[in-house]
Parts: sequence; structure tokens; C-alpha cells
Amino acid sequence: MLPKINKIGVLTSGGDSPGMNAAIRSVVRTCAFHSIECIGIYRGYQGMIEGDFKEMGPRSVNNIVNKGGTILKSARSKEFMTAEGRKKAFDNLKKAGVDALVVIGGDGSFTGAEVFNKEYGFPVMGIPGTIDNDIFGTSHTLGYDTALNTVVEVIDKIRDTAISHNRLFFVEVMGRDAGHIALNTGIGAGAEEILIPEEDLGLERLLESLKKSKESGKSSSIVVVAEGDKIGKTVFELKDYVEENMPEYDVRVSVLGHMQRGGSPSCFDRVLASRLGVKAVESILEGKSNFMVGLLNDKVALTPLEQAIKGHTEIDKELLRVSDIMST
Ligand code: ATP
Repeated sequence: MLPKINKIGVLTSGGDSPGMNAAIRSVVRTCAFHSIECIGIYRGYQGMIEGDFKEMGPRSVNNIVNKGGTILKSARSKEFMTAEGRKKAFDNLKKAGVDALVVIGGDGSFTGAEVFNKEYGFPVMGIPGTIDNDIFGTSHTLGYDTALNTVVEVIDKIRDTAISHNRLFFVEVMGRDAGHIALNTGIGAGAEEILIPEEDLGLERLLESLKKSKESGKSSSIVVVAEGDKIGKTVFELKDYVEENMPEYDVRVSVLGHMQRGGSPSCFDRVLASRLGVKAVESILEGKSNFMVGLLNDKVALTPLEQAIKGHTEIDKELLRVSDIMST
């Protein structure tokens, strides 16, 4: 017999990403659709420990589908990493009559959910929310598509000034461990070179490529660099290196930073969030637990949380080749 679920709690945890609000809205409204209660938990696991809860109905999520960030706020909670912290969280959930949890966040948040599930047998379901797109079991995480569009728009603007002044720009984008944003925006914005954590293209090759493009008549260039690029140099060190070796270049650096995490979610992210929220709630009602809902081959699919946490996402190497050809 299926466990009776009367009330689901939803929280956002870790770094925020565009589409989290649309996912909260989807969870809340799917609960209402199936006539079960829903409570919002503020500030991720920290709010769970402090009992910072709010009953949510379909009207409490009006006008948020288009908003960046998260109305439930997000937090990183050291206390939840301790058994005492998790005990307080469990007691609060029981007191509030919560039967299952939807966690919207990254792999750290999923690890917390898995530990909590193991300890208390508490039903949990994950929705991947991070702009880095580095979670196994989904082709897209919430916020990734929006971040791509934000970055491309900004690089287009940087290109205007690069062309006007014959400059070379190093543009640093987010991605400490994964180069998805750099690789895709680099191609989308027509970058000369793309430096990512997964591949060491080497400094020599960078210089070669820049020399080639200069010889072929290009007077300005954009190089997109992921935060964690494998060459292991900061964008500022890269600038110094190129200036030393190619003094004819006027080199500038632009670090895009947190603006990549903000803004109104793209249509893709809003639709994805809506689909994942429905699946998360309905899977809980079917008695499932300890899964992440994601998008695989354009279908919403479940992946065990453990795999989502431990599995590795690969970059599409063909994109590197496409980028090379495009910068001819
Ligand atoms: P982002 O991709 O933005 O970093 P994330 O979900 O990976 O998002 P983390 O800061 O790694 O973000 O994790 C969020 C929270 O999950 C932590 O602050 C902590 O409360 C909880 N958490 C992470 N790892 C564990 C763990 N091993 N045990 C219990 N809780 C954990």
C-alpha cells in the first residue's frame, strides 16, 4: 500500500538559479491540483532546522513564473551537515505534518537530501537547479538556458567595443568544474577560443590561434574562459601572458560574475521547471523517493539521487571541433 501523503514541503538550497521560482510554483500548484497541502520552507535546510515554514496555496505563487532568484530564499547550512541539525529539522517537519520533501538545488543539496532520507526514511525528491548544468541525469538544469542567453547577450555587447578599438577580450564566465556555459556561449557568440576545465588546450595553442586570426585579417577577438579552465591561470594572468608575447594586442578582461545567475528565466527554463515540478510531486504520490527528476532525450525522467550526485556530466567534444571550424 502507498504511504499516505497529505503534505509536501518544498525548499531551495545552494546557489540560486533562474527558474527556481517557476519550479516552486509548479510544486505548489501540483499539490493543490491533487488536493494535498504544501508548505514552503525558507532558506533551504537552515529554515528546516529553524522551523521557518509557510503554508502555500496556488495563489501564494502568483506572478513568480517570470522572476529570477527564489521567493523562498536560499542558504547554505553547516548545521544540516551535523546529526543534531538534521534531528531538529526532522522534528520540525513532523510537528508541521510534512510527509515528503522536494529539494530544488545542486548536488550538495541532493547529498543533504540523501543523507536525511537514509537517516530518517523521509521521502525526498530532487529538482536540479544550478546554472552550471553539471548534474548527471538531466540534459538541462534549471537556469542553464537562461544563463546561456544572458552571457551571449553580454558578449555581443563586449564585441561592439572590441571591434571599435581592435581589442582582444578575455571574458570569464561561470563554471568552476564544468565548461558547458563557456563552450556553448563561446560558439553562440563567435569566440576565437574557448578555455574550459575539461580540456587543456595549452598556452602555446592559444597564442598560435590568436596569431593565426590576426594574420587572417581579424582585428579583434573574444576568448571565453570558464572560471576553472584547465590551463590553471586566471583571466588576468592570461591577459599578462598574451600582452607579453603579443605586444601588438590591446588586451582587456571582463569577469561576468553573479549577473549570470540573475534575471528573468527563459521560456525554456519556465517550461522545464513546470514539467519537473509536476513530475516531482506526482512521483512522491506514487510512493517514489530518493530520485531526481530531470530531462533525458526531452522526456522527464527519474534518476536515483545517488547517481545524480556521483555521476559525471561530459562536455560534447564535437562542440570543440565546431568551435575550431567556426573560428577559421
Ligand atoms: P551549487 O551548485 O549552487 O553549489 P549545491 O546544492 O551544490 O548548489 P552546496 O552548498 O554544495 O550547494 O549544498 C547546499 C547545502 O546542502 C549545504 O549548505 C548543506 O546544508 C547541504 N549539504 C551538502 N552536503 C551535505 C552533506 N554531506 N550532509 C548534509 N547536508 C549537506
